Amino acid sequence: MTDFAATRAMFHLPPGMIYLDGNSLGPLPKHALDRMAQVMQDEWGDMLITGWNRAGWMDAPARTGDRIARLIGAEPGSVVMGDTLSIKVFQALAAALDMTPDRRIVLSDSGNFPSDLYMAQGLLASLGRADDLRVVAPEAVADHLTDDVAVLMLTEIDYRTGRKHDMAALTAAAQAKGIVTIWDLAHSAGAVDVDLAACNADFAVGCTYKYLNGGPGAPAFIYVAPRHQATTRPALSGWLGHEAPFAFDLDYRAAPGIDRMRVGTPPILALAALDAALDVWDMTTMADVRAASLALADRFIAGVESQCDMLTLATPRDHAKRGSQVSFRFEHGYAAMQALIDHGVIGDFRAPDIMRFGFTPLFIDESDIDEAVRIVAEVMRGALWDTPKYHKRGKVT
Ligand SMILES: *Cc1c(COP(=O)(O)O)cnc(C)c1O
Repeated sequence: MTDFAATRAMFHLPPGMIYLDGNSLGPLPKHALDRMAQVMQDEWGDMLITGWNRAGWMDAPARTGDRIARLIGAEPGSVVMGDTLSIKVFQALAAALDMTPDRRIVLSDSGNFPSDLYMAQGLLASLGRADDLRVVAPEAVADHLTDDVAVLMLTEIDYRTGRKHDMAALTAAAQAKGIVTIWDLAHSAGAVDVDLAACNADFAVGCTYKYLNGGPGAPAFIYVAPRHQATTRPALSGWLGHEAPFAFDLDYRAAPGIDRMRVGTPPILALAALDAALDVWDMTTMADVRAASLALADRFIAGVESQCDMLTLATPRDHAKRGSQVSFRFEHGYAAMQALIDHGVIGDFRAPDIMRFGFTPLFIDESDIDEAVRIVAEVMRGALWDTPKYHKRGKVT
């Protein structure tokens, strides 16, 4: 069993704050500070340009990609880091569309994160195919796997409700109809068991600043199944995805393997922070994290429901159908969340009425849950949110 007291000790957790928002931005792993200082001083500072070779900067995207591959059941050499998740969605979709030239439709669901849908809209519009995105209700996806669908593009875990798709079943059903699949693992990587190889997934993408604690704006990842890598066409054909970047050829030739999904110069400092953050996974297993996170979430749900009948659970109760967050609906959810934050319980709000709380045993324990429940009950039962200062909206909710 994992020693979760030891993983918790790895993180900087400000006193007086119960941080239930690791699903949006993971906390700082303390040793990332030292790692950053070392990379900045010893590598950037002392090695300067020679760091690309001497410190192995050039291979950092694939090296860190392999560490993430282990957390999502991906084959070695099938994951590479870089850019933001939105960019990786674009790349995966462009590649998947290339594989299905005889079909038109990109199928997604209304529980997907808007940026994924926006990127699809932008790409399809550039291709003169603005009408080819079909967005259906999450429960209806299986019924819409029809012969005109080229690509099924879904986020496994709904950012609002925490509802979880059955990735293996939907991938198999889609592939049986000749549909290429793209899974967004933004709320899955580091939160739930994912086994891309066992699911026979085609493409996957995800970010690393949520459950992987890589820091604000940490680089995203993309997975391409080994069977597709040699034929995947990189639409964003930047020089670092070239077979020989330093040959400076005038014509693009894709690098063999996953490196072709690289675009430009990798963010070495951000990769260093992320790489340090991944060390915590050497102390635990995904199975331990998942089991403990469900137990924490169940404890929170039971506690809140027993005291706050004004809150309506929006997250499925069935363990198999949910991720690592718990969401409640409340008409004045924005103001209520501001009041909670003021009282030391940090969650977030997603329009129109979702109060969202994330649970990870890496740094949250049962006593945090009990204290959070006590504060939620105090704020909700006393309607402490019902004051003008909590209704004023910030730029980020
Ligand atoms: C968090 C999240 C994003 C954010 O994309 P960025 O490009 O990293 O800003 C995109 N898609 C999903 C599903 C997310 O959960």
